[in-house]
Amino acid sequence: MKDYKTEGIIIRVRDYNEADRLVTLFTRERGKVQAIAKGCRKQKSRKRGIIQLFTYGDFVLYRGRSLDTITQCEGKESFSALRENLDRMAYGAYMAELLDGFVTDGEPQEELFFLTLACYHILTLEDPELVARVFETRIMDLLGYRPHLDSCVNCGRVIDGPKAVFSSAMGGVLCDLCIHRAGDSIICSMGTLNMLRQLSSWDIKRVRVLKITGEIKREIGEILRTYIAQRLEKKIKSAEFLQSLASVQGIV
Ligand SMILES: [Zn+2]
Repeated sequence: MKDYKTEGIIIRVRDYNEADRLVTLFTRERGKVQAIAKGCRKQKSRKRGIIQLFTYGDFVLYRGRSLDTITQCEGKESFSALRENLDRMAYGAYMAELLDGFVTDGEPQEELFFLTLACYHILTLEDPELVARVFETRIMDLLGYRPHLDSCVNCGRVIDGPKAVFSSAMGGVLCDLCIHRAGDSIICSMGTLNMLRQLSSWDIKRVRVLKITGEIKREIGEILRTYIAQRLEKKIKSAEFLQSLASVQGIV
């Protein structure tokens, strides 16, 4: 059978040829799938409203040699509220870019799939920056990249303040005696370290009760951004856009 059915979230869309789109789907059953949606930019195409970034739906695909073709699609949730607000859209695009970077073609990540759906729902309602922070820590957990935060990553000593030092290259926090081992250290408060520890196991549905403000919010953002870029081994374009958006709004 060359046809298969899958449930998926559109995490990347690019125009292709005159009327087509290239689509990256994060599917429940097959991880990442690259596909072409033919004719979907035509005015009368039924697929036009469905083949958009963030859409969650059912897809029927025809298996091709290098690229599959979306033959049928039915949207279940368009997450249109994300596209109607610049902040939410930017954070949603950032999360999609992380998925595109971390999820592998053909390898299912079911728990991450449902986490993404939950995060996109909550992103339409809550502080998008906090939703992104929880998503970042949870995606690291699920993929086995949880940073070492309980003690010094180098010698195991307890970190007792007043400041902590995080190293992306070392993959965790360092004590005073081991700081010299990292060339990329970020100094943060103990409040930031404690919040990072909590975020690792935070339920996304409880993002509303998270209280992260000011300096701690900024430090957590910087630590997670650099740590994730290190794990991904590349710069995240939408993270840079988020930073410029924040500076325009006077947040940073
Ligand atoms: Zn140490």
